Amino acid sequence: MEFKAPRGTKDILPAEIEVWDRLVDTAKSVFGRYGYKRIETPVFESTGLFTRAIGETTDIVKKEMYTFKDKKGRELTLRPEETAPVVRAFIEHKMHVEGSLFKVFYWGPMFRYERPQAGRQRQFWQIGIEAIGSPDAALDAEVIQMASVYLHEIGLTGVKIHLNSVGDKCCRPKYTDALKVFLKQESEGFCEDCRIRADTNPMRVFDCKNRACGAKLREAPVIMRYLCDECKRHYADVTGYLDDLGIDHVHDDHLVRGLDYYTRTTFEIKHADLGAQDAVCAGGRYDDLVKQYGGPESPAIGFAIGMERAMLAVRTGNDREEEKSLDGYIIALGDDAKRKGMLLASNLRAKGIKTAYDFSGKSLKGQMKNADKAGSRFAVIIGENELKDGSVTIRDMETGEQRSVPVKEADTWLTKDSGI
Ligand code: ATP
Ligand code: MG
Repeated sequence: MEFKAPRGTKDILPAEIEVWDRLVDTAKSVFGRYGYKRIETPVFESTGLFTRAIGETTDIVKKEMYTFKDKKGRELTLRPEETAPVVRAFIEHKMHVEGSLFKVFYWGPMFRYERPQAGRQRQFWQIGIEAIGSPDAALDAEVIQMASVYLHEIGLTGVKIHLNSVGDKCCRPKYTDALKVFLKQESEGFCEDCRIRADTNPMRVFDCKNRACGAKLREAPVIMRYLCDECKRHYADVTGYLDDLGIDHVHDDHLVRGLDYYTRTTFEIKHADLGAQDAVCAGGRYDDLVKQYGGPESPAIGFAIGMERAMLAVRTGNDREEEKSLDGYIIALGDDAKRKGMLLASNLRAKGIKTAYDFSGKSLKGQMKNADKAGSRFAVIIGENELKDGSVTIRDMETGEQRSVPVKEADTWLTKDSGI
């Protein structure tokens, strides 16, 4: 076959869909419990929305965006992330209500032109939340706790919450100046990219995957020492609330975010089994972003979870026994039986019983094999004898036990908890 899925994209096949759907269902249930409602925004937006929010000097804007012109010459970009679109929608639809929070969650595909590797794709899915309208450190703690509860409920164990503060517009510039001085002094110890970052976006050096740079950065100044009193207090409050809630976390001086709009709290939730791409969840505050776009003063916080990474981690973490995907598999032998079988299948489905009908036209033996392959608990056989006396033969596919029952009772037998 000549066509393959484009580089950096991935099909989610039926065998994986149970875990995939669990990620989505759990998002609805956990985030719903905290009072979040779902939002859907377009997959593409004006390019300017992202360049302004994310920042001209970030990797995403410089190298990773899927940007194109439409037929009228409009500059559009496939969304690389969802915070900027949510903020755009919040302002555009005047969702600001004084003193109350705008709380939403989403899931959907994001697009970044990156070098594909395990846990890193060009089209990937994110599940995330945004809470817009409060600077309260307690909100940060609630949001981090919600992420942690979510990961727990999808079955992820052994995650670690990393926490830092990136300050605000009052104290961060002092820190980036100090960092710049350090990077200039030690420039021969850093890679080409980091030397450029020293001029354009110094904090990005902490995201460098180069080992030598990582070692060198252990001597770098840390932002904690440069935070203003308000940012320091805010950070202490967040960790205090997390302690109250019994949420384990570690302080991480080197945790910065790749996007410009972050302020104060930043966090990442890592899973050891994922190797180099070990962050399943990343988030933080963005207190100035709404205002920067001409909206009302609205401090905010959010996070995003990479669905493919979460799925990888859930899979390596626990091999759950697969549920049977069908209750009944109808095997009809002959034309008259076929009519009865189709009707029975339809009636069973109407009662919520998962039922498949065999269209192969094979012998009884062949169709039994199909029933087994389809992963059905029972086969429901309609042959000549069954037609005559209005019965069906139900066979337990695991034990091989069989029983003849009146066709009207098929539903009760197929939904029995124990065998037949
Ligand atoms: P990284 O440092 O891994 O590149 P990032 O800082 O670019 O991450 P965010 O933009 O904060 O990541 O995205 C949040 C989460 O989305 C990440 O923690 C990760 O789980 C997931 N993610 C980000 N980029 C990709 C990608 N290219 N492929 C798969 N998942 C991704
Ligand atoms: Mg990235």
